[in-house]
Amino acid sequence: MMYDPKSPKAEEFICHEEVLATLNYAHENKNNIALIEKIIAKACLGKGLTHREAAVLLDCEIEEKNQEIYRLAEQMKKDFYGNRIVMFAPLYLSNYCVNGCVYCPYHYKNKHIARKKMTQEEIRRETIALQDMGHKRLALEAGEDPVNNPIEYILESIKTIYSVKHKNGAIRRVNVNIAATTVENYKKLRNVGIGTYILFQETYHKNSYETLHPTGPKHDYAYHTEAMDRAMEAGIDDVGIGVLFGLELYRYEFAALLMHAEHLEAAFGVGPHTISVPRIRPADDIDPATFDNGIDEDTFAKLVACIRISVPYTGMIVSTRESKECREKVLHLGVSQISGGSKTSVGGYAAAEPEEEDSSQFQPNDNRTLDEVVQWLMELGYIPSFCTACYREGRTGDRFMQLLKSGQIQNCCHPNALMTLKEYLEDYASPKTKALGNQLVLEEIANVPSEKIRKAVVENLEKIGCGNRDFRV
Ligand code: SF4
Repeated sequence: MMYDPKSPKAEEFICHEEVLATLNYAHENKNNIALIEKIIAKACLGKGLTHREAAVLLDCEIEEKNQEIYRLAEQMKKDFYGNRIVMFAPLYLSNYCVNGCVYCPYHYKNKHIARKKMTQEEIRRETIALQDMGHKRLALEAGEDPVNNPIEYILESIKTIYSVKHKNGAIRRVNVNIAATTVENYKKLRNVGIGTYILFQETYHKNSYETLHPTGPKHDYAYHTEAMDRAMEAGIDDVGIGVLFGLELYRYEFAALLMHAEHLEAAFGVGPHTISVPRIRPADDIDPATFDNGIDEDTFAKLVACIRISVPYTGMIVSTRESKECREKVLHLGVSQISGGSKTSVGGYAAAEPEEEDSSQFQPNDNRTLDEVVQWLMELGYIPSFCTACYREGRTGDRFMQLLKSGQIQNCCHPNALMTLKEYLEDYASPKTKALGNQLVLEEIANVPSEKIRKAVVENLEKIGCGNRDFRV
């Protein structure tokens, strides 16, 4: 098979032979100091790396060079994303699923997990509960089931979520993580105003993929791997990719993940909006120990750092699958979005789920409330951001990437982060978080480069203090 990043065929843009050749190349050069220095120098330019170059850095065994990689990842995080961390929460609509994924408790053979599908009234209640926590951005999740979770149900649910306005709350961006579907259905999702379409590959290794997905529509490797092409064709230009680390060899996944990003860039002129780095977690009838490709925290940190410097314009997401300690370790290496106060059950925000009715997809490793996460981030020197402005201003796809590449994000994301944080502090924060946050907002105003925008931000912050909401630049 020939490797062709522009090809619409999965097996050509994620060419197995090319991944194997990349792994060999990386292995042969893991102590090649001259090459490693050359690649690091290229990464310093902030224009990214090829999958082969990135694989060499991932394999690099020279401690001193590894420290350079970490420092560079940290610098790039600062240069492109500043000290902002965007907040979101997942909302599981339904755990009915017809697929047989062996790593997920929602697989159809699991007869003891509680099956649930929220009604629109339940979704309304969950949305209110999420708004009352302070969330503005959600990631919708649902199993694949054409009878229980047809596209019409997903669309209706998104409309319900956007329609709920409780006190000062609003969900302003709904990202969607549902199974691979048709161009026609992606158009429907676009028309209803979704933010990012997220779909994890789980594993790029075709044989493993087919073994891990023995039954159901998800078994079709090509249909799943080409899903982002169909989403792009339908006009969704913010797509989020990721793998489930632990299923296959992480080096394989890393190279293929970057090849997927290269493919989207080559075929559509815009790479992925986000990359997620989930690791497998315990769940009903799932024991991570049965998968032998788990990675330790040091390897995980190296992966995050190498992704950061390889695709500097792509946001990176770490969920509550990771512990507080692990999240703290990787935040500065390039993560730009995290979830907080998450429930991984169907519903569960408005009222806690009884233990005997557990419907969760995995056990979170970070069970803190959103307020605790917000406070923790600020204590670490980050600005928790509830901003959803870009998508609402039409700054998606390559328009968003241009903004990021030109460095204008500091005049845009930074002020929006301050204004949305101020909203959070006024409406939802505990007294301690509020005091800490108000001080942080005051200090950070000086870091808005444009005088004109700085002035507008100061005025808007005052208005927010007087009860007005939803300002953005
Ligand atoms: S991973 Fe997705 S498709 Fe597979 S069983 Fe779980 S919910 Fe269904």
